[in-house]
Amino acid sequence: MKCPNCSGTLYYDIALKKLKCQSCGTVSDVKDYEEDTSASEDIIEGARLYTCKNCGAELISANDEAVSFCTYCGSQQLLQSQMSGVKRPKYIIPFSVTKDQCKKIYEKEVSSKVFVPKEFKDPDFIERFRPFFIPYWMYRVSFRQDPLRFKGHKTYTAGGYDYFEDYDVSVKLDESAYGVPYDASRNFDDAIAEHIAPFSRKYLRNYQPGYLAGMYADSPNVDADVYEKEVLEKASHMAVEKMKASLGNIELELPVRKKKLQEFLMAKKEGADTLYLPVWFLTWKKDDRVAYAVVNGQSGKIHIDLPADMSMFTKYTAIGAGLLFVLLTLFVSVTSRFVIWFAALLVYLVGIRYHQELKQIRNRENHVFDKGYLLSDGKELPMSEKKRDRLRKRAASYNGNVAAILMGSGLAFCFLIFAVAGEMYDFLVSQQGAIVLTFIILVLETVRFFKQIAAARYLKNKRSLFICFLGLASIVYAFAVASAEPVQDWWYYLGALICLMAASAMSIDLILRYNETSTRPLPSFYERKGGNDRA
Ligand SMILES: [Zn+2]
Ligand SMILES: [Zn+2]
Repeated sequence: MKCPNCSGTLYYDIALKKLKCQSCGTVSDVKDYEEDTSASEDIIEGARLYTCKNCGAELISANDEAVSFCTYCGSQQLLQSQMSGVKRPKYIIPFSVTKDQCKKIYEKEVSSKVFVPKEFKDPDFIERFRPFFIPYWMYRVSFRQDPLRFKGHKTYTAGGYDYFEDYDVSVKLDESAYGVPYDASRNFDDAIAEHIAPFSRKYLRNYQPGYLAGMYADSPNVDADVYEKEVLEKASHMAVEKMKASLGNIELELPVRKKKLQEFLMAKKEGADTLYLPVWFLTWKKDDRVAYAVVNGQSGKIHIDLPADMSMFTKYTAIGAGLLFVLLTLFVSVTSRFVIWFAALLVYLVGIRYHQELKQIRNRENHVFDKGYLLSDGKELPMSEKKRDRLRKRAASYNGNVAAILMGSGLAFCFLIFAVAGEMYDFLVSQQGAIVLTFIILVLETVRFFKQIAAARYLKNKRSLFICFLGLASIVYAFAVASAEPVQDWWYYLGALICLMAASAMSIDLILRYNETSTRPLPSFYERKGGNDRA
């Protein structure tokens, strides 16, 4: 797009909401550059398609200038470009968050984090935020058009009386409704999309080439059919909600159960249009890992992958362990009977965090929340789509991690209180105490062991299975020693040592795994046919 004054390159200025010339500063309206529909049917004018040699991602630049690095893998190799017929979107939400605002949002988020790598706070690095459009599908869904008859009722209280009213309702559904938009790019992680959602429909515009001037875009590569099931479900639900609202929020007695709703309404997908949503995108690369910071270009909501600096993490853990030791020697005169159950408890507590981490890695490795990814790579994943679906539903309804952490820390807290209170003291250091407590811990651990295994078996790296087993075995041993009641102390200390080894193994694996979850492997978007041939 050229400046009318000096024929310099025009850019979309987010603060002004207008086009601005880089050379002479002339400002013009986006509307002055209507799309040239006669010349190129549905092609983005002047767009070039860049293919990253490193990861295979395809990026679109609406400018003449070359793309200097890849958004997804951070590679700075020259990207291959071709003038190409990039299909233009039907709708677009223009940027409203400027680069300066975006950088402030990011800096605020990162400033409170102690463990992040130094580079995250480097101004030169932050400068690399890039304005980027993510393609989405917007679905048109139609419904049956004959009048629907329902029974409806409404209960309300007025002037101290309860009223109950019955209605016979006859309504006609809207001719068509838009389904919720779905990610049309396999490159963009759905979990990130969920974090930075929503984008307000209020800012939706018909596509104008001016909105893209100076920006970049991801090229759509997910087929519109992928989301058909979800789209029909969601659109049917929305149609019913809309119908209720139009009738003054009465309770409708729908003649069908929820599952059959879309059949009853005869929901039908009529078509899908592309929509471009704005994000600011920053890529951090180290060795073979990448991390992303993504800011919603309309609302300013942010997602950051935050890897931890390992040396800091280790120091933190060491200080924690030291404090625990001091606390113990101050308040409890340690006996071998005490040591055995306390070591078992430690295994259980470390295991809570460990279990949580295993679940997170399982979800990420199997792209549980990343539906767009499943199209071409789904078959390579060890987890079935059915199982993934169950996990998604469970995650939406219940947070087991919170419950586990609350239970574990509550348990630890009670023991400490009892220990300090003195009344429990005799019990805690006795043989009987060792037997009872290791037994309780063993029961808890056994229950959790099966859950842990259920998560660990879906991981690519199977060493966690062994570590989970080690955790259970160490507690079994602790209980066996306590109930066998050997006289010699060293039996108990050996048991504690085995427990400590199991807890350490979990901690080490946790640290190694942590940076795997907070960063991502280098992406690869090449079509993988007949196995991995990139070795
Ligand atoms: Zn100019
Ligand atoms: Zn790349």
